[in-house]
Amino acid sequence: MSIVPTTRCHDIAIVGGGCAGFQLLHALSREPGGDALDIVLLDEAEALSRSWCFWSREPHPLDFLIAKSWDAMAFHAPGVDLRLRLAPYRYHYIPGHRFFAFFEDAFLPAHRNVTRVRTTVEAITRESDGFTLTGPEGPWRARQVFSSRVPPASGLERTHLWQHFRGWFLRMKRPVFDDGAVTLMDFALPGTDLRFAYVLPLTPTQALVEVTAVSRGVYATAQYEALLEHYVRRRFPSVPFTITGLEEGRIPMTDRRFTRTGPAGETLIGTAAGMVKASTGYAFERIRRDSEQLARHAVAGTAPAWPATTGRFRFYDQLLLGLLDRQPAAGARVFAALFDKVPLPRALRFLDEDTSLREELALITRLPCAPFLRQLVQGRAS
Ligand SMILES: Cc1cc2nc3c(=O)[nH]c(=O)nc-3n(C[C@H](O)[C@H](O)[C@H](O)COP(=O)(O)OP(=O)(O)OC[C@H]3O[C@@H](n4cnc5c(N)ncnc54)[C@H](O)[C@@H]3O)c2cc1C
Repeated sequence: MSIVPTTRCHDIAIVGGGCAGFQLLHALSREPGGDALDIVLLDEAEALSRSWCFWSREPHPLDFLIAKSWDAMAFHAPGVDLRLRLAPYRYHYIPGHRFFAFFEDAFLPAHRNVTRVRTTVEAITRESDGFTLTGPEGPWRARQVFSSRVPPASGLERTHLWQHFRGWFLRMKRPVFDDGAVTLMDFALPGTDLRFAYVLPLTPTQALVEVTAVSRGVYATAQYEALLEHYVRRRFPSVPFTITGLEEGRIPMTDRRFTRTGPAGETLIGTAAGMVKASTGYAFERIRRDSEQLARHAVAGTAPAWPATTGRFRFYDQLLLGLLDRQPAAGARVFAALFDKVPLPRALRFLDEDTSLREELALITRLPCAPFLRQLVQGRAS
């Protein structure tokens, strides 16, 4: 794609070619009339090395990118060893390289209505008839702007609680993995922070094994490496292995209030719009649903809704975040009770914010109440 400074007024500018920017582009292309829109995608050249997993009951518009799906989920905590059927859900894995290769090599060349510019958008300003976006290669003008740029004043970087992780793609000398079940949490890691291993078994000999922690600060690489070594040696003693790849990242766990619109009135998308579920770090499916409604409204010229966490689900997230922050040891007990005592589909529906108040009350009575009461007394997370 060439870099073409232009002042022509596009119908739509999308800032950021990540999970939200590309899902929105895809949703626009599926919307009747979407392919007639003149779209400019302004994206930094920075390559994202990340993969996405999500649970779902329905086919996903990008399901041809799914590398592996599971029908069962395992969970391990002291005194709890579960292998649960996911039906009616399935858990899916989209490797980042597949996602980006599809958009770069197939989608963008096939959609001539989309101009892609590698650039950093430095400012967005409101004009009488739309927006001006500026950056080293700009300016650009557009009637509508969808931006995954986190507004600099949002304070997201100052979040004090993070879910952070590092993983190894492993090839084992012998088959050791149950590749019919993803291990969502295995609390077999030493330390006082809330820490667990997450295992995506791709074949009986290959898996992505991640160590994840929830804490105020992220770790030095050597600390993740020591935890990974500890976990793999303990779970699969004396099985030789090779590390074929790495994945790492950090996700803010925050109950701060996000907004649908940015400082210039641009429509925020993805992380910037609060699409990452505060208490779990999952966002892929929520971004898919949001992208579909944004695309409908963009074509119709109407105002989109904002499916952010509000009301009682925000309260549950706040309570859980505060608990994970102040009582990390209780976190494992709470998750163990959630997966042990609540039917898995209901627990997943709860995490999707799709349960009724009645179901939530029934669910809450199955969780250990002392840590929640303590948290209610001590106050919420900041
Ligand atoms: C390592 C990692 C793994 C994750 N795994 C999962 C998972 O398995 N399942 C799940 O549901 N969620 C997961 N998440 C959470 C969430 O789905 C991701 O963070 C997701 O990528 C968020 O989408 P986004 O588009 O908002 O941000 P990103 O995907 O990070 O994309 C933002 C894009 O905008 C670009 N950009 C930003 N500012 C500018 C600017 N000023 N000008 C131009 N371009 C700009 C960036 O370069 C980037 O390309 C994960 C998060 C991380 C960090």
